[in-house]
Amino acid sequence: MFPNRGVNDMNALRRMVLTVALVVLVIAGIAAVSVSGSSKGDPSGTEVTVPGYDRNAAPGDTSGLQKEEEAVSQQKSSWKGQPTVITGTGSMKYRTRLVLLGTTGGIAYWPATTRATSSSALVVGDTIYIVDMGQGSTYRLSEAFNTGTFVNTPGGKIEDGSPTFLKNVKALFLTHLHQDHTADYPNFLMNGPGANLGWVIDPNTGQAKYVPLQVFGPPNRGQLEDDKTNYTGTIVYTDSSDPELITSTPGTRQMTALIMQAFAQTVNDMTLDNGYPDFTKVVKVTEIGGTQPGDIPLPVPVPDPNNDTCPAMDPFEVYRDDQVRVTCTLVDHHQVFPAFAYRFDTADGSVTFSGDTGKNTKGNLQKLANGSDVLVHEVIDRAWINKKFGNPANGTRMYALKEHMLNSHTTIDEVGQVATDCNVNTLILYHLVPGNTPNGHLIEAKKNLTGKLIIGEDLMQIGIGRPKQG
Ligand SMILES: [Zn+2]
Ligand SMILES: [Zn+2]
Repeated sequence: MFPNRGVNDMNALRRMVLTVALVVLVIAGIAAVSVSGSSKGDPSGTEVTVPGYDRNAAPGDTSGLQKEEEAVSQQKSSWKGQPTVITGTGSMKYRTRLVLLGTTGGIAYWPATTRATSSSALVVGDTIYIVDMGQGSTYRLSEAFNTGTFVNTPGGKIEDGSPTFLKNVKALFLTHLHQDHTADYPNFLMNGPGANLGWVIDPNTGQAKYVPLQVFGPPNRGQLEDDKTNYTGTIVYTDSSDPELITSTPGTRQMTALIMQAFAQTVNDMTLDNGYPDFTKVVKVTEIGGTQPGDIPLPVPVPDPNNDTCPAMDPFEVYRDDQVRVTCTLVDHHQVFPAFAYRFDTADGSVTFSGDTGKNTKGNLQKLANGSDVLVHEVIDRAWINKKFGNPANGTRMYALKEHMLNSHTTIDEVGQVATDCNVNTLILYHLVPGNTPNGHLIEAKKNLTGKLIIGEDLMQIGIGRPKQG
């Protein structure tokens, strides 16, 4: 039901990619910001340049679309499902597409870049599935999908009612609970219902009909992590009348409930005075590794997270509907536990998101991502780490921080080998740390890479599989 899209005819594939890339480049008239490695299985390293997303393209601009259609038409006979960067005008031609919403990580405020922090959307038909919600990602979500419906009035166009585009967001998958993956989650919960997140108006009754956003994420860590940096501040606990809910490490369910409590004034006002739905019904949380009814257990004994955050395991299913199957595994982002990678299989192809992880996942990521069309993988710049931390003495706070950066993330020079070991067609870099890392450093990801390389950008769209027929 969810076939992997193997690539067997590499010559046809290269001809196709070259032609489409050339046409799209001409149409968009933009500088190439993405690069590719040698085509898979071809050690001679044929270079294929793929254009990046044109941030300045006018929405709805269809100039050049006919040429693009012709180019696609010419390639239909040899199409093999190779992921392709597409422009805004071409995006609707793909039933399944990956949309990068936020492509930096760690600190949210890198200078000289407008990248939002980690978030991605996989679109299948009209349905949107999101992985992580870092800072700025809800704005990117609106930029990517909130086309609106306008009507003409004397003096200009006006919006026809309220935006409803978030009714298409079906599920959110959190890789882990660091703020660069969750900071816009409260924003999403507070502002989303205003654009039909989790509910629609039942045309028969005129009443709110709930179709809750399904949120999948980590449970309570269970214990506070070891202090590796001689921290001297205050440990924050949740505030609850229920002693069992007082914790320093709340999971996704409790975090969600606490967001509602923290914003209770506006939640209650929006509901009582502004016609909003019941906020508590627009979201349904399932914890992966949690113990509540309906939660999804880990397929291995839960380890002591202060000793082992990433035991070897086989991938396991966490979600399935008629369009996607989502599988999951633990990755190594110590001391964070759990930290997940997710794989989405669709009829058009497969996409795996690494989440935050060091390069050594004991084979977990390789098992999960094996044969994916696309691996979206985090990177950190070793040169920046060395510049920032120098050579601190063992036992110091700086030493601990440097070790954390190097071992719980994957450096640019390491990620190519990871992708090759995952046997993927295309590696897309995201969660760039720092967010202003120059392409001259990011291109090091080609080291030991046998697939194509794309340097991710916010709002870049990547078509998965073949364009829609007709
Ligand atoms: Zn991160
Ligand atoms: Zn993290």
